[in-house]
Amino acid sequence: MTFGSANRRGGGPGDFAARLGRVERLLSAKGGAAGAAAPLTLLGLVLRYQAGRVPVATVVTAAGAVAAGAELRLAAERFPLLDLPAAVAPIAAEIPLAVAALGTDLPDPLLAGGMALTGATDEEREGLVEQWLDDPATPEPVLGFWVRVAGGPILEGGRAAIATPSRDEWTGAACPACGGPPQVSVIAEESGEFMGGSPRSLVCSRCAGWWTFPRVKCTWCGEGDPRRLPSFVPDERKVARIDGCETCSSYVKTFDLREAGGIEMVPLVDDVATVSLDLWANDQGLARHMVSFAGV
Ligand SMILES: [Zn+2]
Ligand SMILES: [Zn+2]
Repeated sequence: MTFGSANRRGGGPGDFAARLGRVERLLSAKGGAAGAAAPLTLLGLVLRYQAGRVPVATVVTAAGAVAAGAELRLAAERFPLLDLPAAVAPIAAEIPLAVAALGTDLPDPLLAGGMALTGATDEEREGLVEQWLDDPATPEPVLGFWVRVAGGPILEGGRAAIATPSRDEWTGAACPACGGPPQVSVIAEESGEFMGGSPRSLVCSRCAGWWTFPRVKCTWCGEGDPRRLPSFVPDERKVARIDGCETCSSYVKTFDLREAGGIEMVPLVDDVATVSLDLWANDQGLARHMVSFAGV
C-alpha cells in the first residue's frame, strides 16, 4: 500500500483553500482566465463555501463515518472503499445550507434548482443523493450541481482520511475510494516511487482523490489500441491536451504537469480554466462524460 500521495499534492482531497488560491491567481492574471472568467468566478464561490464547511462538527463527524472501515474493505478487495450509504443523510442535510449560503449569488437555473431542493422533503433529498452516488450523470444537472457542492466536504474529508490503493490493488477507471468517474487525467513525476516512466493518474470528480491508471487506455470504454487513441494539443501549450478515443468518441482532458507551467496547475481548477479545449474537442465530434463547472 502506498500512503497518501494524493493527499500531498496541493488542491487534493479536502484542500479547498489551495484550489481557491489557484482560482484567484487565474482570475487576476492577465489573460489567465481567457474565456473562463464566469465559470472560474462560480467555482471560486463554491470553493470558498466548501472550505468553510470543512471544520464544521457535523461535517467532520460525517467524513469520519464515511471513512470508517475502509482498511477492512481494502483488505477484502471490496471497492469502493468509502462507506457511501453513511454519506447519504449527511449530504442531504447539507443541501439546504448550501442553497441558503450560495443560491442568490448563482445564475438563475442553479438558484431555481436549489430552491426546489430546499422545498423538497428529507426523503426526496436523500433519494437524489443516493441516485447521484450511484451515477452522478443520472440526476438533472442543476440538481446534481447542488449534491456535488454539498457532498464535496464530506466525501473529500473521508477520502483524505484513507490510504491511496496502489496500482496492484486497483487499476479501474472509477475512483477506488468513492466509485465516482474521473474528472481529468494527470501525468506527473513521482520521485522514487516509479522508475523510468511518468505515471498517469485519474482525478476523481467527487472526492478529488488521485489513482494510477494505464497511459494508453480509454477511461470510458477501455480501448487499449494506441492507434485509436489520438492525443490533440490544440495550441502551443503542451501542458493541457485532449486524449480522444475513436472507438467511443469520448475524450478526457490530460494535464502533463512536467511541461512548462505545469508546476502551478491545480487540475480540478485548470479543467475549468481550459474550457476552450473542451469547445475545440466538441468541434471534433468528441464528448466528455463528466462536464466541468464551466458546464461543458
Ligand atoms: Zn472519488
Ligand atoms: Zn473509448
